[in-house]
Amino acid sequence: MGNLTIDMLRERAHGQVIMTTDAEYDEARKVYNAMIDKRPSVIIRTADVTDVMAGVDYARENGLDLSIRGGSHSVPGFGTCDGGVVIDLVRMNGVRVDPKRQTARAEGGCTWADFNHATYAFGLATTGGIIGSTGIAGLTLGGGIGYLTRGFGLSLDNLLSADVVTADGRFVVASEKENEDLFWALRGGGGNFGVVTSFEYQLHPVKDIVAGIFFYPIDKVREVLSFYREFVKNAPEQLGFFPAFQIAPPLPFIPEKEVGKPFIAIVACWAGALDKGEKEMASFRKPAPAVAEMVAPMPYYAINGLFDPLLPPGLQHYWKASFATELTDGAIAAHMEFGPKVPVVNSTMHIYPINGAASRVASDATSFAYRDANFATVIAGMWPDPADNEKNTKWVKDYYKALEPHSLAGGYVNFMAGDDDGRVKENYKENYSRLVSIKRKYDPGNLFHMNQNIQP
Ligand SMILES: Cc1cc2nc3c(=O)[nH]c(=O)nc-3n(C[C@H](O)[C@H](O)[C@H](O)COP(=O)(O)OP(=O)(O)OC[C@H]3O[C@@H](n4cnc5c(N)ncnc54)[C@H](O)[C@@H]3O)c2cc1C
Repeated sequence: MGNLTIDMLRERAHGQVIMTTDAEYDEARKVYNAMIDKRPSVIIRTADVTDVMAGVDYARENGLDLSIRGGSHSVPGFGTCDGGVVIDLVRMNGVRVDPKRQTARAEGGCTWADFNHATYAFGLATTGGIIGSTGIAGLTLGGGIGYLTRGFGLSLDNLLSADVVTADGRFVVASEKENEDLFWALRGGGGNFGVVTSFEYQLHPVKDIVAGIFFYPIDKVREVLSFYREFVKNAPEQLGFFPAFQIAPPLPFIPEKEVGKPFIAIVACWAGALDKGEKEMASFRKPAPAVAEMVAPMPYYAINGLFDPLLPPGLQHYWKASFATELTDGAIAAHMEFGPKVPVVNSTMHIYPINGAASRVASDATSFAYRDANFATVIAGMWPDPADNEKNTKWVKDYYKALEPHSLAGGYVNFMAGDDDGRVKENYKENYSRLVSIKRKYDPGNLFHMNQNIQP
């Protein structure tokens, strides 16, 4: 039998096969980062696993580049390519909760908003990201840092099994019991090993939480970050929180005269007993008097959508990332210099804590190697106008350079820029060689290379 032709693909697929001449093409080729402007030859909006198999076969048999798209949030734009094939899982967003086992199985095209919405009704949740529109797929496969990380580990620590279509078009299940090597590699190795069509997660009893947002004067950076580095060491693990540089948006709890000014902020989520939330939030009044604050109970899914309006699709994105064991005085000095220069309301810098449950997992238990890091820092440049590209990318690069001497060699793969592919090996440290051997077994031809690539 010859190669799968485009006509055969159209015949085989239950979902949409979108070509360059189709009316939906221009909309369908867009990814979240508007800086990425690529023209694939075909976009397959898969309806089911069979469609994914067909898409993988079509790309491999025709020697075409293949991009896998879950939530489309990859800042380097790995969810698309020029001239190749895009498998877009957007239509595959079903979630089935098993309340007895406290698990959920979610299809590869789910966003965290889809996922949290489905699990909330059962009073259950797992670690996800802090933005509702991010895909569960890319986020989980690279790590997964969010409000629940200190209590329940990374998203990938909560992964129980994955359904995967491998480079040869086969369907396999990866778990602690089946294809254990693939399961190990998937938990940190990103999209290098196959298309994950569904994820099975461990859930935890989390329903309503208490959220806290505190904006402190910008001349209190030293006080706030010094407080943060000490407090995070022994703070209860039900408390997820991180400092951020943020230009004040026009929100009801922010005095009008403060809108548009840069602040050092702390964002917090108390996922323990609801009546203890107010008391836990009082800790964040210690470093300095807040210019504005909001403390309120809300559904867990609501805090994960709180910042979505600031980050619609279509912004320009350029990000840099680093890990650190300590938040040193030198790092705080760099934050004091560059944080207040945050150029626009959409841009930010976050220092996420990854201590607690995430750090109790051995560094070789999954392919996510930086279990000794206590902090994952992201400098997230996000702005609307392409005319400002140079100014904004310069802020990110200069800030990153100033932090570099105070950081570990690697950074979180999911926060990396497109020009960071030289750092892939550093991101996996001693796990890298095992990842290479598993890549050779499951994808010797490197079909899955539109990612932070592990070369076979
Ligand atoms: C606004 C914003 C907020 C973010 N917040 C957080 C956060 O709070 N915590 C955090 O940890 N990260 C966060 N991230 C980073 C995020 O984890 C990565 O961007 C992640 O790659 C996004 O996954 P996705 O599925 O949305 O992206 P996509 O662009 O669809 O995919 C990203 C990568 O994963 C691969 N991939 C996607 N789907 C599959 C699949 N089904 N099978 C195999 N490979 C697949 C792709 O090929 C690509 O290499 C954020 C990113 C953005 C832009």
